[in-house]
Amino acid sequence: MFENLSDRLERSFKILKGEGKITEINVAETLKDVRRALLDADVNYKVAKTFTDTVKKKALGMNVLTAVKPGQMMVKIVHDELADLMGGESVGLKLEGRPAIILMSGLQGSGKTTFSGKLANMLKTKQHKNPLLVACDVYRPAAIEQLKVVAAQIGVPVYSEDNNKDVVEIANNAIKEAKTKGNDVVIIDTAGRLAVDEEMMNEIETLKNSVNPDETLFVVDSMTGQDAVNTAKEFNDRLDFDGVVLTKLDGDTRGGAAISIRTVVTKPIKFVGTGEKMEAIDVFHPSRMADRILGMGDIVSLVERAQEQFDEEEAKRLQKKIQKNKFDFNDFLGQIQQIKKMGNIKDLASMIPGVGKAIKDIDIDDNAFKGIEAIILSMTPKERTNPEILNTSRRQRIAKGSGTNIQDVNRLIKQFDQTRKMMKMVTGSKMSQMMGAMKG
Ligand code: GDP
Repeated sequence: MFENLSDRLERSFKILKGEGKITEINVAETLKDVRRALLDADVNYKVAKTFTDTVKKKALGMNVLTAVKPGQMMVKIVHDELADLMGGESVGLKLEGRPAIILMSGLQGSGKTTFSGKLANMLKTKQHKNPLLVACDVYRPAAIEQLKVVAAQIGVPVYSEDNNKDVVEIANNAIKEAKTKGNDVVIIDTAGRLAVDEEMMNEIETLKNSVNPDETLFVVDSMTGQDAVNTAKEFNDRLDFDGVVLTKLDGDTRGGAAISIRTVVTKPIKFVGTGEKMEAIDVFHPSRMADRILGMGDIVSLVERAQEQFDEEEAKRLQKKIQKNKFDFNDFLGQIQQIKKMGNIKDLASMIPGVGKAIKDIDIDDNAFKGIEAIILSMTPKERTNPEILNTSRRQRIAKGSGTNIQDVNRLIKQFDQTRKMMKMVTGSKMSQMMGAMKG
């Protein structure tokens, strides 16, 4: 799912890839593409516009770190805004009543019956609840049968009344039964129509007022795109529901509904359905959904970690030292320690989009820096700040002290000399970019 949108976004971020910083011009270009990608993914026009305006403001106001590239920075901003748009935090169910009552609403075919089963299963297996499913879709005999089939799969009881068409009565009888049998959650599956109609709305409204549910959930098929948003609005106007369930996110959906619904009805998406099986249910996490939409590996946490670890002042200090050819082994050690602070090397590398898969089977030694550190630590302070004095006898002493051999020491000093020469050659902003490359 979302492949289309994430591909498009990835392409638009590429525009920024070669750029040194975020400017009014390159941001405008990228955002034009982002907006088009959102619209094509069925995101509501107004939502897309507000979204790109906010991203633009944030991007231009951002102090771009040398540690991350502008493209990466934009991914992070877009990611955080997307997550925000979809509600920011994950919102759980409020199940306080004894029994707690959950009322399902939504159009026919949206996936209410299937979701009722999935939720009952989840509450039973993960929260050790004892749910009762209630068949209030009394117009289609097949619907009651379907709920019974679902319930049998997960071993949850169903309350139904074959010859009664009064859903308010059925629901209240079910609640009574739950109290006597010790069911702590009552999940009421209701009738849907193919489109919103007055009779259906009246029925579910009356039902809601009578049973006073802890949670009224609106179930919607995410493949219906913009219609999903309109239906959500109509149901919310009548029912003032508590949360949204987006089903069929496993299908060929363009994903726009997930992004727009929250903004249009200002109600949280609480669950998503990702298949026909009873286990295909996920609690909705805005941030994780944004990850999936962007499909950009874990670049967001990479940028976050770089932001946490990278010290802008330190970078400037180093730059000055390099220009004066004063970069020494202490600085070298400091750099290694900074990189190490960012975490396991393989973990870090795997956060870079595309790299994760490539290095899956390659063994990257976590202790790659150990020998280097040992060698530097075995140098005297004078040797570290004046590498020129490292003659053969000093090198032999260092090899012994660090538990390495003279070849290792020679290799490191040679690498250090080369690095120093190279650093001297690149100056100014080029240097900051290189520091960025070292981090990212
Ligand atoms: P209801 O009329 O609202 O009760 O909808 P149903 O629960 O009967 O679902 C309608 C159809 O959608 C059924 O064929 C379900 O198997 C299917 N369905 C429901 N949820 C999902 C889902 O998350 N993914 C997929 N692929 N199919 C689903």
